Amino acid sequence: ARKFFVGGNFKMNGTIESVKNIVKNLNDAQLDPNVEVVIAPPALYLLLVRENLNPNIQVAAQNVYDKPNGAFTGEISVSQLKDSNINWTILGHSERRTILGESDEVVASKTKFATDGGVSVIWCCGESLEEREAGQTISVIEKQLKAVAAKIDNWKNVVIAYEPIWAIGTGKVASVEQAQEVHAAIRSWLKANISEQVAEETRILYGGSVNGKNCKDLAKEKDIDGFLVGGASLKPEFVEIINSNQ
Ligand code: 13P
Repeated sequence: ARKFFVGGNFKMNGTIESVKNIVKNLNDAQLDPNVEVVIAPPALYLLLVRENLNPNIQVAAQNVYDKPNGAFTGEISVSQLKDSNINWTILGHSERRTILGESDEVVASKTKFATDGGVSVIWCCGESLEEREAGQTISVIEKQLKAVAAKIDNWKNVVIAYEPIWAIGTGKVASVEQAQEVHAAIRSWLKANISEQVAEETRILYGGSVNGKNCKDLAKEKDIDGFLVGGASLKPEFVEIINSNQ
């Protein structure tokens, strides 16, 4: 069975004080031991979080570069994450794809670099509202999957996050049917194009306006193996989301 997984993506939010408060809340909470929890604070706070957080909770970067150390001003390397005991990174978030211009190929290359270097990846995909309305949801996601599948062979250290762009930060969560449909399509793509084992074992998370109220119904769906949470990961209700599969 796939272990339920809940990620918290803080994005470019927080202060030293607010991040410390989130860490304290998580350290004090009763968390379902059957859930893998990973939080992704801004890069500047990664060490602070790693040093103070319950060691059962993992820490992720929000991005990493696809080159070894060197003359790449402003970037962070996979080896620097490892050196800091940060064993996860988010990659391919729609904000990086659309605002920072990362192509499917760049995201795939970064995913390969991270997994080869021993950093696990929360790999994000998802369609825009325009693409959904044009009936292109599955084809967009398959194109994103194809680019990453061409580069990597180690799927053990990859978690997939399906995040429809129209649901991110909008309060417009996907319906359980909409989410389950895409998750099932991703799993059958993995089965047809990678292997039955990868399809069976890979966690597929839903992200986009997940909160303490809507998480329980989504968690019941058979192909929804957890969540990638933005806004609500900054609030105490993140604990309810972590415990939503009980
Ligand atoms: P919200 O939960 O704020 O909609 O953000 C989702 C997201 O983008 C997580 O990566």
